[in-house]
Amino acid sequence: MPKTVQVAVSNATFHFDKLYTYAVLPDQQAVRRGSMVLVPFGRGSKPRMGVVLAVDAEPESARLKYLFDLAPESANLTDELLALVQFLRNRTFCTWYEAVKAVIPYGAQYKPALAADGVTPVLQKQLVRHTENSYSLAGELPAKPHPTAKQLLAVTLLRGGARTQHQLEELGVSKAVLDNLCSKGVLACEKVNKVIDLYSHIPQNAEPIALTDAQQAAYNALAPHLQSGKPHAALLYGVTGSGKTLVFLKLIERCLALGRKALVLVPEISLTPQMILRLKSTFGKRVAVQHSALNHTERLLQWQMIQDGGADIVVGTRSAVFAPLENIGLIIIDEEQEHTYRSESAPRYAAHDVAKKRAADNGALLLLASATPSIESYEAAVNGRYQLVELTQRYGGNPLPSVELVDMRAELASGNPRDISLRLEDAIRRNLEQKKQTILLLNRRGYQTVAMCADCGEVLKCAKCSVPMVYHKAKKQLLCHYCGSTLAPVPTKCSCGGKLNYTGFGTQKAEEELAELFPTARILRMDQDSTSGKDAHEKLLARFARHEYDILLGTQMVAKGLDFPDVTLVGVLGIDSLLFAQGFRAFETVFSLITQVVGRGGRAESPGHAIIQTVDPGNPVLNLAAQQDYKAFFGQEIAFRKLGLYPPFCSLCVAGFTGTNEQQVAQAANRFAALLGQQAALQPKMPLRVLGPAPAGILMVNERYRYKLTIKCRNDNAFRTLLGSVLALYEQEKLPAKAAVTIDMNSDGDL
Ligand code: ADP
Ligand code: ZN
Repeated sequence: MPKTVQVAVSNATFHFDKLYTYAVLPDQQAVRRGSMVLVPFGRGSKPRMGVVLAVDAEPESARLKYLFDLAPESANLTDELLALVQFLRNRTFCTWYEAVKAVIPYGAQYKPALAADGVTPVLQKQLVRHTENSYSLAGELPAKPHPTAKQLLAVTLLRGGARTQHQLEELGVSKAVLDNLCSKGVLACEKVNKVIDLYSHIPQNAEPIALTDAQQAAYNALAPHLQSGKPHAALLYGVTGSGKTLVFLKLIERCLALGRKALVLVPEISLTPQMILRLKSTFGKRVAVQHSALNHTERLLQWQMIQDGGADIVVGTRSAVFAPLENIGLIIIDEEQEHTYRSESAPRYAAHDVAKKRAADNGALLLLASATPSIESYEAAVNGRYQLVELTQRYGGNPLPSVELVDMRAELASGNPRDISLRLEDAIRRNLEQKKQTILLLNRRGYQTVAMCADCGEVLKCAKCSVPMVYHKAKKQLLCHYCGSTLAPVPTKCSCGGKLNYTGFGTQKAEEELAELFPTARILRMDQDSTSGKDAHEKLLARFARHEYDILLGTQMVAKGLDFPDVTLVGVLGIDSLLFAQGFRAFETVFSLITQVVGRGGRAESPGHAIIQTVDPGNPVLNLAAQQDYKAFFGQEIAFRKLGLYPPFCSLCVAGFTGTNEQQVAQAANRFAALLGQQAALQPKMPLRVLGPAPAGILMVNERYRYKLTIKCRNDNAFRTLLGSVLALYEQEKLPAKAAVTIDMNSDGDL
C-alpha cells in the first residue's frame, strides 16, 4: 500500500528543485510511479501539478501534506517516458518538472481546477468537449415488442464491434433509437475520446514503392536491423535528390509489417506537410503529428491518439522525439545536421541523444539521414560507431546542379548598384522565359538590416539588446529580431545629430528589387513575417508547387527538403555573414545550407544551375560547397576540429550567466569558474579545459546581460557529477550577485 509519494512539482526553480514527499489518502491507493497528481505547495498550499516519481510504503513524517487529487490511470506516464525524464534531468541539468514538461506537452490531459463545491482543488480533463458517445452491444434484443427495422439495423451494425454515435447516425440510426436501446439494456454507451484526423483530405495512394537498385541496396543494408531487436545506429548519407525519402518509406513499411512503430523527425515545421503527405498517402490513417504549430487542442488530441495506441507512425519536429509511442522499431532523423534538433531552452537536449536512448530501450534502428551530415555524425560513421549507408547518385540519373560563384565586389566596381548581380538577373530572365521556377535564398528578413550614422559611425541598436534594429518597410518600423521591440516612426537622425544611412539587404528589399527587374514575374516571399498564419507554410508551398509563382524568395525555410520538379535555378544572395559567425559549426552550417538549397534545383528532367553571390569568391568553404564535395569538406573540417579541439574530439559545455546588472553577471561567472577550478583540482586526471568567462557574442538580450564559460570536456558520468557539485556549491553561496546559470551541453559555443 503506498503511504507516501515523491513528486516532481511544476514551476520549481533549479535552486529549490528536489522531489517533494506527500502522504496518500486511502482513496488514492491507485497512485503509482508516473501518476499525474495535484499537490498543495508552499506556505499557502497552492495547488500545483506534479508527477509521481517514486512511491514508498512507509510514512516519512507525521506532518506531511496529502495529495489533493490524482488523475486516472490512463494519464500515467509509461516507464519509458519516466526513464526519459530521469535521463533529461541527468544529462541536461534541468529541473524535474522541466523534464516532465518536455515529455508531456501542457501536462498532457489534465489541468488544475476547482470541484463543484468551488473550494476543493481537483484535476480536470483539458479536453472534455472532445469526447463522443460510443455504443456497443450489452444484451439481447427482446423479441417483444416487435423490434423496429432501425433497432435491428443498430444491433446488426454493432455485432461487428463498437461504433460512435456519429458513425451510426451516418448509417441511418438516430440518437432516439440508440437511447431507447440503451434504456432496454440492449446497448451500452460510453464516452470515448474523439479522434480527429488532421489530414483526412490526403488520399491514399495504393501504388507500391519501387526502389532503384541503389535505393534497394541501401534498404537491404538497413532492414535487417528492424528485426534484430537490438539497438542499432546508421547514417544514410545520400546526395540531394537521391531518394532518401523512398528508402524511409520502405523501411517504415517493413517496420509496420513487423508489428512495430516508427518515429520520423524533421528539422522544422515547414517540412512537416511534405513528409505528412508522403506518409499519409502511403500508409493511410494511423499517422500522428506532433509539432508546435498545432493548436493546443490538436496537439493534445494527437498526443492522446498516440498514447492510446492509435498511431503507428509519428512525424514531427524535435519534441516529437518524446511521443508516447510504444514498441518503436525505427527512428528516423531527417536532415540530421540541423541545429533545430538541439533545444535552446530548458531542457537543453539534443534530439539525437534522446533518440539514441529510445532506440536502445526499444531495440530499434536509429537512422540519421542527410546530404550534408554533421561532422560529428559522419566521423562516427567513418570510424564504425554508426553503420554508413550511401546513395551517391540522384534519382533518374539527373546530374547535381552546376554551380558558379559571382564576385559581388567586382559587381559593385563595375557600376551595378543592385544587390542582385547581372549574372543572376540574366539567369532569372532566361528561366522565366523558359517557364521554369527559381528559388532564391536570402537568410535575412526585413528590408534594410543596418542603420548607421554617417557622422559618428554608430549603428542604431535595440534599446534592450546589443543587436542592430532592422527596418521593416511594410510596417514602417524598426524591429529587433531578438526581443521583438519596435521603433516608429523610423528615425532619420542619430543621437549625435548625424544622418542615419540605411543599408543591408533583407528579403523585403530583395522582393522589391526583383519586382522592379521582372515586373511580370510572380514572386512569393517566404520568411517569418509572411508565414505567421496557421498553415501558412503549407498553403504557400502548395501554391508554388502548382506553379502559381515563378520565383520563391526566402530565408533558410526555402533551402531544405523541398521537392519541386520545375525548379531549375537557385540563387544564394547573402551568405557571407554566416561565414563569419562565431560558433565552431559556422562553416558546417554554410556548407550545408548551400548544398541544401543548391540541391533544390534540377530534381526532375531539366538540369539545375545555381549562382552564389559572395564578396569572397576564393573562400574554400564556398568553393567546396559549390562543388558539392562533402567528403573534401569533411576532410578539411575534421582537421580543423582536431587542431582546435572541438567536437567530436571533445564535448563542449557552455555555462551561461544572465542578469540585469552586468558587473554582477561577470562576478557570478567568475565565481562559478573559481568553484569549477577548485572541484576540478580534486580530479587531476579528468580531461578539462576551461575558457573564459567572457561576454557572450551578443552581450545583451532583452535587457539581460550574458556571460559565458566554455568548458571542453568529456561528457561522461564523472564530468556530470563534477558539474553537478559545482552547481550545488554555486547555489549554496547565495551570492548577492547571483545570476541565473544555464548549462548547455550541445551549444555551438556562440551564445
Ligand atoms: P532526397 O530526400 O534524397 O533529397 P527525395 O526522396 O525527395 O530525395 O527524392 C527526390 C525525387 O525523386 C522525388 O521527387 C522522388 O519522388 C523521386 N524518386 C526518388 N526515388 C524514386 C523511386 N524509386 N521511384 C520514383 N520516384 C523516385
Ligand atoms: Zn531587442
